Amino acid sequence: MDKLQDTFGRKINYLRLSVTDRCDFRCTYCMSEKMQFLPRSEILSLEESLRIAKTFVGLGVNKIRLTGGEPLVRKDLPWLASRISELNGLRELTLTTNGSQLPQLAKPLAQAGINRVNISLDSLDPTTFRLITRTGNLQGVLAGIDAAIDSWGSRRIKLNTVLIRDINHDGSHELIRFALARGVDISFIEQMPLGETGYHHADSYYSNAELLALVKQQFEVVPSVENTGGPARYWRVSGYETRIGFISPHSKNFCADCNRMRVTVRGELFPCLGNDGMVDLLPAIRTGDERRLLELIARAATLKPQAHIFDISQSEPRIMRFMSRTGG
Ligand code: SAM
Ligand code: SF4
Repeated sequence: MDKLQDTFGRKINYLRLSVTDRCDFRCTYCMSEKMQFLPRSEILSLEESLRIAKTFVGLGVNKIRLTGGEPLVRKDLPWLASRISELNGLRELTLTTNGSQLPQLAKPLAQAGINRVNISLDSLDPTTFRLITRTGNLQGVLAGIDAAIDSWGSRRIKLNTVLIRDINHDGSHELIRFALARGVDISFIEQMPLGETGYHHADSYYSNAELLALVKQQFEVVPSVENTGGPARYWRVSGYETRIGFISPHSKNFCADCNRMRVTVRGELFPCLGNDGMVDLLPAIRTGDERRLLELIARAATLKPQAHIFDISQSEPRIMRFMSRTGG
């Protein structure tokens, strides 16, 4: 089969592979307080996840990100990472994590071939951090960031921050200073309405345009010409290596450059985070039918819509899947 391309001519070379829908945190924008998780019988084994990764790499995917839920709560993740990192044709294997388990797992994951890591950090204030994550412990995450810097080096670490109006938007300067002091990158992501989280997005949405204006009051920033191939637009603070990224699904739509698909831990292939269309890979995976798997992936590429349908002016989200379920 040819390399993956959708009906709008976009090449698909990036897979986000979710290894669990579970998490030790309950971030308010990602989950509801009481979540129902998938029964174990319905989730892909690590061997099945590896088979999916291998099939996608055979179709020209050269970057895979392991995600979740919290990928580090999945037992034997380093085993999966080392097998995926050995796949011929893969250029980069990355990870998105909340950082809580990195003190124990950073070294084994670096040794397993993870190339870069994104760590979520929404606040440096312990009370606000707790308010957002519900169960998270800031000190543990900060120890995880230190462990990641030790294992990968600061230039391979990026922090991810979701800003929520009147909850953490005023902490952005502190977060940028934290990133500058450690030489790590930081990206700010506009909150997306996914699942019944209880947020009224017209109120809680804090745009990256507002944030940039705020950042310019405190830092001398220059736009960076670099393009990492992802949705972020980058700025640099003069004299520092740190890049400040802005991922703006609402205020600066980036769908035209989308190069990715997502596979959930239940084997659903979503060609777009911000739409409901998907194909179910699980039966083909369970029966080992490789030809059917290729057909289903090709079908998903044809289903990839032109753009997401997020609408922050609505009080109800249009996409009822929680972010933790699809994989961030
Ligand atoms: N548990 C890991 C973590 O938190 O980094 C990986 C999974 S999480 C779903 C991936 C990313 O999605 C995190 O950076 C998180 O902040 C972000 N995220 C979750 N829900 C979101 C939402 N509704 N809008 C924007 N970003 C969201
Ligand atoms: Fe867990 Fe990550 Fe979702 Fe927070 S954003 S609840 S850490 S999966």
